[in-house]
Amino acid sequence: MTRSKPKIVKLDDFDRDSVPAPLIEIHRRLRQGGHDAFLVGGCIRDYLLGLSPKDFDTATDARPEKVRKLLPRAFIIGRRFRLIHARRGDTTFEVATFRKEPSSINSPRNQRRISPENTYGNQREDAFRRDFSINALYLDLRRKEVIDYVGGLKDLKDRVIRSIGPATERFQEDPVRMIRAARFAAKLGFSLDAEVTSAIQTNKHLLGHVSRPRVRDELTKLFLSGHGVSSYQVMTDLNLLGSVFPQHRAASSMIKLAMIESDERYASGHKLSGAYLFATMLWHLYADRLQVLENERGANSNTGTLREHACFDVLQMSRRYVSLNREAQQFILSIFVLQNRLERKQNVGRTLDHPRIRAAIHLLELRAKSGEVDPSLVDWWKKRQPARKVDRKRKRRSNRDYRRSRSNKRQLKGW
Ligand code: ATP
Ligand code: MG
Repeated sequence: MTRSKPKIVKLDDFDRDSVPAPLIEIHRRLRQGGHDAFLVGGCIRDYLLGLSPKDFDTATDARPEKVRKLLPRAFIIGRRFRLIHARRGDTTFEVATFRKEPSSINSPRNQRRISPENTYGNQREDAFRRDFSINALYLDLRRKEVIDYVGGLKDLKDRVIRSIGPATERFQEDPVRMIRAARFAAKLGFSLDAEVTSAIQTNKHLLGHVSRPRVRDELTKLFLSGHGVSSYQVMTDLNLLGSVFPQHRAASSMIKLAMIESDERYASGHKLSGAYLFATMLWHLYADRLQVLENERGANSNTGTLREHACFDVLQMSRRYVSLNREAQQFILSIFVLQNRLERKQNVGRTLDHPRIRAAIHLLELRAKSGEVDPSLVDWWKKRQPARKVDRKRKRRSNRDYRRSRSNKRQLKGW
């Protein structure tokens, strides 16, 4: 549903204390400078659903240069779309000028060239350039009013992800929106509007043309933000993961287990490693490739070298789809190659000294859980594995504290 006049809903019980104080100040300064200021996007969606917003984005009619003048400690970032980052303590607040999607100028697709001048727009245009109706709600903090141009409030109530404008067109403009649709469906437990689902089916091949760093970032947000299990489910139901990352083996029990683990770690505030998750996705491809190389080269070939070759081949293949930095590639190579030593209980001392040993044992455990190796092997290594670095640090610190406290006692005694 779209409207020329927005629907405005008063949120009488909205508590201004639920947003960070510096944000209230940012909005006040923009208004004092003669401009509008609204919270927009994911933070309003999450607030209305009773979830805690990840971050707070502001939209304004002030141009970036003006915003910078009005706000202390504000910097212009970005070239194509100039945004303002205002630093307040440890937090950065983003302030963006209203802009419009080039498509809303009714120009043919091949003429939609974006120049900074023609991207600025009014609030209505800014709403229509956004991806889904639930992501295009604005909140006026002073008036406590939600402004809805695109039927987002109704879709929030109906728990549905609906595209703003024809889904096919919007996905052709930016194929990443298909992954975003899956992400929001998974994160919020919403259903996808039928038009969105069918447009995904006809346009998912376009994901092959998206830049690799963007794909990596989207996959990271999908799988490492606490809703990996449901994201994996939605992505496989839509047959979408294969278009982004053909290397994964569909419905692999190991990937599912890795997602469960990653959600648990997210919930308990642990660090999550993207490289480890990609390793679990690439593992079967590596095992298959190794088998092919072993068959080709025969039993007498140097198996260590074959393993490295298999891993390089797999990383090479995946490079076409996601960009993994050198460190991530090195990490994956190490934990794959260590698997053989772990399986054979080889070079125990040297293996235990390897800086990636914990991650390698972790992968071994995942393989055991999915029935690939004997679980007793995991216990054997776990009993021997070194303590985590932080544990070791903590232990050192507590030893030091213990020594200090003893020497204090001694001093006290001597007094
Ligand atoms: P999250 O809570 O996961 O951060 P979000 O909705 O805030 O979700 P962001 O990626 O932070 O997502 O983007 C902020 C807002 O910018 C979105 O709510 C949406 O309105 C708009 N947006 C982001 N990416 C796109 C896109 N590819 N196409 C159109 N609009 C987009
Ligand atoms: Mg956000």
